Amino acid sequence: MAFATVSELLKVGKDGDPALGAPETKALDYAGLRALAAATVGDLNAMGIGRDDRVAIVLPNGPEMAAAFLCVAAGATTAPLNPAYRQEEFEFYIADLKAKALLVQAGDQTPARAAAAKLGVPTIELTPTRDNGAGSYTLASSLRGAAAKPGPAQAEDIALILHTSGTTSRPKIVPLAQSNICASARHIGATLALGAGDKCLNIMPLFHIHGLIAAVLSSLGAGGSTVCTPGFNALKFFAWLDEAKPSWYTAVPTMHQAILSRAERNAASLAAAKLRFIRSSSASLPPQVMLELEKAFGCPVIESYGMTEAAHQMASNPLPPRERKPGSVGVAAGPEIAIMDEEGKILPQGALGEVVIRGPNVTKGYEANPDANLKAFAGGWFRTGDQGTLDEGGYLRITGRLKELINRGGEKVSPLEVDEIIMDHPAVAQVVTFAMPHDKLGEEVAAAVVPRDGMSVTEREIRDFAAQRLADFKVPRRVVVLAEIPKGATGKLQRIGLAEKLGLGGNK
Ligand code: AMP
Repeated sequence: MAFATVSELLKVGKDGDPALGAPETKALDYAGLRALAAATVGDLNAMGIGRDDRVAIVLPNGPEMAAAFLCVAAGATTAPLNPAYRQEEFEFYIADLKAKALLVQAGDQTPARAAAAKLGVPTIELTPTRDNGAGSYTLASSLRGAAAKPGPAQAEDIALILHTSGTTSRPKIVPLAQSNICASARHIGATLALGAGDKCLNIMPLFHIHGLIAAVLSSLGAGGSTVCTPGFNALKFFAWLDEAKPSWYTAVPTMHQAILSRAERNAASLAAAKLRFIRSSSASLPPQVMLELEKAFGCPVIESYGMTEAAHQMASNPLPPRERKPGSVGVAAGPEIAIMDEEGKILPQGALGEVVIRGPNVTKGYEANPDANLKAFAGGWFRTGDQGTLDEGGYLRITGRLKELINRGGEKVSPLEVDEIIMDHPAVAQVVTFAMPHDKLGEEVAAAVVPRDGMSVTEREIRDFAAQRLADFKVPRRVVVLAEIPKGATGKLQRIGLAEKLGLGGNK
């Protein structure tokens, strides 16, 4: 079904069919969700907030966050923020995105309140009413006014504002139109053949594009449902699986690995789970993990490639009977994909270069940042900053983030390539290769390794193992063995800045 706005998308599901769920909570059906969206747009309009007015949302992960995202987006611009931010971070983001109001849960002592108060931004209080179904709530605020543009948001209005993670530069504002996020929801629905009978178990944070679009919006755009957990927890995952009986879930590789590490002692849940497929995105999935997951769950694992600026999905491996290629992020799945050189020339199939995209899901450009837009767009294509190559079947292989490539005195080392080799070591559960500073070479290769449960491994063993399979210059000069690798807010491993975090800043 064609939909270009969130309010149109919410019309796909049937009255009585479940839309949102949560553990130990009765589901909210589509009639209930549509009524909630209409009430929310009415309440916001009466507070003076309408189309293209920005509402910063700071809510705990769960069905109310999913519902608030959908219902606020039906009539205004949503800007979900990570609830774990400190007050200064909230001040930066709330000011930067020019929020007209801050939506928080009643009684939640989040530092976002103090940040908004300091900036003179009024708050709207959300009170969950779970007896009416998962995600139900009422809104209250002392804010009154007449919205300049009331009513349902239109296709070209901005539905969602997110900041880039900005590991090397100031975070940039990514505005996504209603039409962008709806196109992405349609693309994901088509890739995964989602339908009314599908139920997603959401464990992704709902301030990140992956959870918002792949888990929530794509499900609802297909008339299916999403069960919203309070956030990823490897200890609770199998109980949620038993209770919710989902048909699929989507996660980042580190979560899949944590789930796998507990698979053996949850054999009964695995046997009872009837997943149609598992989806992985937002970072590269080691082929070894993909195979282990497929074996443990007895279903296909679909690796997809997403990014905020594309409202998430760009490429995906297809469902069977079409081929899944481990180590590849699949074929273009929504936007067109090409490989470009530094001068902006599109390269022939097989060449290595920058992955570029264009299509209805791609942002029109960063907000108030002409410099960034000049660099990001070339001939109508958006430069992803990722390096990759397309094979003869149109499958894309990502070889790294251009900024993450390790430059060892001019010799480029792809950290992904080193990861893939070290993952083959039988005692290694997780690895991340990164650059550490070096006085002569500029950068040198380093790796952090997490051993499998009950196993141990030394720096020497890993280096010897890598040296048998990799050219000398690619063998990590330092290997740190850790119980856990520090991650970013979305659960992704961040190569940039890791050397400093691990105290490997000095020269060796
Ligand atoms: P984000 O905007 O947080 O979703 O991050 C987007 C970036 O994550 C992309 O530009 C890629 O560098 C990386 N990424 C996403 N999916 C994959 C994947 N399947 N394999 C490798 N890298 C990925």
